[in-house]
Amino acid sequence: MLTDRYGRTISYMRISVTDRCNLRCRYCMPDGIERIPMSDLLSYEEIAFVCRQAADLGIGSFRITGGEPLVRKGCVRLVSMLKETPGVRRVTMTTNGVLLGEHLNGLLDAGLDAVNISLDTLDRGQYKAITGMDELDRVLASIRRAAGKLPVRINCVICREINDDAPGKLATLARDLPVDVRFIELMPIGAAKGLETVPNASVLARIEEQYGKTTESPGGDGDGPAVYRRADGFTGRIGFISAMHGKFCAACNRLRLTSVGELKPCLCYADTVPLREILRDGAADKEERIREKIREAVRLKPQAHCFERRENVTEEKEMVRIGG
Ligand code: SAM
Ligand code: SF4
Repeated sequence: MLTDRYGRTISYMRISVTDRCNLRCRYCMPDGIERIPMSDLLSYEEIAFVCRQAADLGIGSFRITGGEPLVRKGCVRLVSMLKETPGVRRVTMTTNGVLLGEHLNGLLDAGLDAVNISLDTLDRGQYKAITGMDELDRVLASIRRAAGKLPVRINCVICREINDDAPGKLATLARDLPVDVRFIELMPIGAAKGLETVPNASVLARIEEQYGKTTESPGGDGDGPAVYRRADGFTGRIGFISAMHGKFCAACNRLRLTSVGELKPCLCYADTVPLREILRDGAADKEERIREKIREAVRLKPQAHCFERRENVTEEKEMVRIGG
């Protein structure tokens, strides 16, 4: 078991497999991104090697993210590789949903345990304004195809300037389909630094105005800090990840692995522990050296993020480079 300096058990790793994306979300990578050469990215074999060492140390849950994970060729294969790794309990994915429909059967066959689909509005014009692309119909089709076949959560980020009016409509997905709809408070990272977060308390108030009082639905989802509520007559739940107004660092259980092979102890700070050189230097004791680096990243985990004091945030990279 991996325990950090503050007594937290680290059992979850988010893996970014690419920094590329087929959308241009305003709060994430509005102008695209300088491309990292493919040779700088960890191969799936290298990622699986790191996960094997992490699983040996007690990390049993892995989430594949990006960038957009499904734009990297062969991403379904990585799901299979991780699912076959001893000690790996759970493999999930976060995607913008554009390519999910066409990969769904492969992902189900590979054993994907759950999927988070990011969608910030049900209005076509607003979707285009947020993402720069006209893909709302494809994302909705993916959601409908996936719902009921595996656990699905819709992740929604609400910004004052862009989609302040979106929560009520987004909640209808949880009313009509077996999916949870979760609101994530915008964090001041990269392109989001100039945008205003809408506090989750006000999102909840607006949803209750429209759909009536909600009740607490205890039991989160194991890996994350979401809290859930139920509304009368809804099939799925409404969840809240209050990164800004409900600091949940005391329960943090995660490390991040970037696409270029750096372990990130915390989203808010620029510190990383590089693994790529070790993975590629041909020395014989790679397993133990990678495990030592994983332990080092756990030792470096700070007590808490400092997003509420923006001047102290040292992470300069966009979310897409970090693996949100
Ligand atoms: N492309 C995939 C997607 O959009 O689901 C995976 C990567 S994306 C960086 C992961 C999640 O991070 C998305 O749900 C996105 O909305 C969220 N995100 C991006 N920038 C954010 C920010 N500044 N604050 C909070 N969430 C953010
Ligand atoms: Fe792409 Fe996801 Fe970032 Fe949107 S939030 S630009 S879909 S990586």
